[in-house]
Amino acid sequence: VKEIGKPERAVVTTCAYCGVGCTFRAEMRGEQLVRMVPWKDGKANRGHSCVKGRFAWGYANHADRVTRPMIRETIGEPWREVGWDEAIAFAAGRLRAIRQRHGARALGGITSSRCTNEEAFLVQKLVRGGFGSNNVDTCARVCHSPTGYGLSKAFGTSAGTQDFDSVEEADVILVIGANPTDGHPVFASRMKKRLRQGARLIVVDPRRTDLVRSPHVAADYHLALQPGTNVAVLTAMAHVIVTEGLADEAFIRERCDGDEYREWVRFVSDPRHSPETLEAVTQVPAADVRAAARLYATGGNGAIYYGLGVTEHAQGSSTVLAIANLAMVTGNIGRRGVGVNPLRGQNNVQGSCDMGSFPHELSGYRHISDATTRALFEAEWGVALDPEPGLRIPNMLDAAVEGSFRAIYIQGEDILQSDPDTRHVSAGLAAMECVIVHDLFLNETANYAHVFLPGSTFLEKTGTFTNAERRIQMVRRVMDPLNGYEDWQVTQLLANAMGLGWDYPDSSAIMDEIARLTPSFAGVSHARLDAEGSLQWPVNDKAPEGSPIMHVDGFVRGKGKFVVTEYIPTDERTGPRFPLLLTTGRILSQYNVGAQTRRTANVVWHDEDVLEIHPSDADNRGVKTGDWVRLASRAGETTLRALVTDRVAPGVVYTTFHHPLTQANVVTTDNSDWATNCPEYKVTAVQVAPSNGP
Ligand code: SF4
Repeated sequence: VKEIGKPERAVVTTCAYCGVGCTFRAEMRGEQLVRMVPWKDGKANRGHSCVKGRFAWGYANHADRVTRPMIRETIGEPWREVGWDEAIAFAAGRLRAIRQRHGARALGGITSSRCTNEEAFLVQKLVRGGFGSNNVDTCARVCHSPTGYGLSKAFGTSAGTQDFDSVEEADVILVIGANPTDGHPVFASRMKKRLRQGARLIVVDPRRTDLVRSPHVAADYHLALQPGTNVAVLTAMAHVIVTEGLADEAFIRERCDGDEYREWVRFVSDPRHSPETLEAVTQVPAADVRAAARLYATGGNGAIYYGLGVTEHAQGSSTVLAIANLAMVTGNIGRRGVGVNPLRGQNNVQGSCDMGSFPHELSGYRHISDATTRALFEAEWGVALDPEPGLRIPNMLDAAVEGSFRAIYIQGEDILQSDPDTRHVSAGLAAMECVIVHDLFLNETANYAHVFLPGSTFLEKTGTFTNAERRIQMVRRVMDPLNGYEDWQVTQLLANAMGLGWDYPDSSAIMDEIARLTPSFAGVSHARLDAEGSLQWPVNDKAPEGSPIMHVDGFVRGKGKFVVTEYIPTDERTGPRFPLLLTTGRILSQYNVGAQTRRTANVVWHDEDVLEIHPSDADNRGVKTGDWVRLASRAGETTLRALVTDRVAPGVVYTTFHHPLTQANVVTTDNSDWATNCPEYKVTAVQVAPSNGP
């Protein structure tokens, strides 16, 4: 404080990085933000923070920020800076012309999980009510869409079952496909505190993450599986629980569908699903799987936490269902200390999904084909809605290449860098007649844009984010938007240029509309959030104070649903040409493709992405730590430096995807989850060879 001077005022707001949702006091001197201080009353963080939320906010004033709208007739031409009126008229004119020539289904949009609930809600409203199609999707497509599918099917709602406080009563913690130390650091600290108090730990991960062995915690069991075999490991654990008589039969009798349970029991009991039989597939010693299954089933309160190592697979949805099966068969659901908890990546990925950002669902996860729900929205919005589900992001790109999809409005998402199979994404974007990018920086996707609408940061807007524990919290404007508008206002300008006549005076009026149309948000308002700090949905007549724990007396869908999940090997197999399996992850100081963190002081902690490779695989190739290597798959290739380490097993390599020069997604393939099209980022067959550098 001595160095920066005493702050003159402070505003409490919510971090815009990960799904933990830490709250901060943004301390200001004049119009300058001088520091972010973790707020001791923050319900998700209780005064703690990580290096991203605390230090990585300087991008808000970075010289790369675009503050004036830009347009151009064709891609490749230089941009022309224009005023807001001209840019919005240009965009709306193109959208209207395309709709007239090719129909409403030629248009679509992508909402952002970095933006507020109110902003995501308005983008999907513009697409459905203004463009006239259901071609709306969200970046959750590439991360947690299998969570939406799996948890909705098993339990009846697409969200984690617990609040973060619940971990304090967990006796056995099962972490699968997640590295919370780097990805969700503040929650990881709470988890580690519980582990130091004596809770037991099972980690299922191909890589030896910090949780497996660090100075203060160590896993009881590390099931270091082959990438792509999550379903096989979980089925083997279920086999042990069922065949050794460890199932919670009373819970199942009372809470779950009996016929589906019996069918599932027949499936998992089959000897072909024993840990011993599946060891050849998973590479995990059968004895470890048996011991871990017994511990989870009999060790007291069992809580499962999972991340993108579960969802970003060809069997992502099956894995989520297998996790739900495991929780139900042991009765680990519906009370504190247990549950199924997806660790959400982006600050508002839960919220963007809640707000109707999927092509088949209106807000609150209600199917677009349901006439009663549609009628509710039609009455409020004064438009007729298309009853057919729209296109997902990869299908929009396919349709663009084929010629039937012509225009897209993308808010806060760099699909060219963050989506798989970069060549296919660029081909789809290049084929469109109108690409509108609404973002902070001229990102890679903007290379294919005709209109660039400057966006606003979380420091320049008021609205709400919803974190991984369904906690809705206020984001408060601490400085004026550099471009003159908050993002929801830009969407409103575009909607009105399309003839919709919206007149939201502020984002609180948008939340009031969300509450009118979404039963799980019925009791939410900005005024209430200001008064109470936060609320966990559902908040309605049945749960006026919100719902820290879900499925307490019964599942939202009624009876819990067991689903048979057959292990199906991924198409990404190793062979003579591509003998190694690549998996990807994050580091603590950086965030996703680095658009924000790399424009802050945090960049000093991350010069480049490196390739972790086991000593035996490195020796075979004559590679040492620091050497350049060429990483190639059937999709593409990149060059990066090697880090020789036994954190990864022989046959497995690992990298992060934060640095623009690496572009790890050049290598990832177009394989995707069978149910949701979530890309299979976590398994790519690759070759690694020495290189002279990029
Ligand atoms: Fe908290 Fe996540 Fe922000 Fe770190 S990045 S301060 S853990 S919300």
